[in-house]
Amino acid sequence: MFIKEIEFVNFKSFGRRVKIPFYEGFTAISGPNGSGKSNIIDGILFALGLSGSKTMRAEKLTDLIFNDAKSKQPEFAQVTITFDNSDRKAPVEADEFEISRKIKQTKSGYYSYFYFNGKAVSLTEVHELLGKAGVTPEGYNVVMQGDISQITAKMSPTERRKIIDEIAGVSEFDEKKQKSLAELDIVKEQIEKIDIIVEEVK
Ligand code: ATP
Repeated sequence: MFIKEIEFVNFKSFGRRVKIPFYEGFTAISGPNGSGKSNIIDGILFALGLSGSKTMRAEKLTDLIFNDAKSKQPEFAQVTITFDNSDRKAPVEADEFEISRKIKQTKSGYYSYFYFNGKAVSLTEVHELLGKAGVTPEGYNVVMQGDISQITAKMSPTERRKIIDEIAGVSEFDEKKQKSLAELDIVKEQIEKIDIIVEEVK
């Protein structure tokens, strides 16, 4: 599974509609300082609801709506991410699917909506779907500026090991192993009880 395209509408520096294609494997984006490269990462965090533990660079959500101070600020911003799902990593029976988020400003405040293939869904549903494909708010699917120095210089070897396990998918098996061992203990206890009863009956 990989991101195939991101569409921005009035999001941060992307006034109006801007589509950015991505390719399988590796896509590098270069540009002058302040041209909006990091805004693309903010768009990914925003659209996929991953900003719980990673920080989008905006004081409030409405700062994400395009504002050039020359014209009236648009009422909404939207980011749509199209995933290539030909490997079926996500539990969606289609070669591609879309996750989108819109923020709408009104006089009384703002509203935020998530969509899966154009249908309104909750943030929990987005997280459940992405979680099955290994994309989680706590994960390292999006590596922020500063994460690398944090990992290499500030973390203990045990903390670093945890991250490597998580990226390699080992932690998922550790959890399953712990669960199975706990179940095994219960079964062993039951066998011991049954053995005692069998002995008594004899
Ligand atoms: P650098 O290479 O310096 O890290 P960058 O290419 O990553 O830069 P960003 O930080 O993504 O650039 O973009 C910063 C630009 O986005 C600034 O020029 C800022 O004015 C603009 N910007 C941020 N929010 C908005 C907004 N709501 N409306 C319009 N422009 C915005």
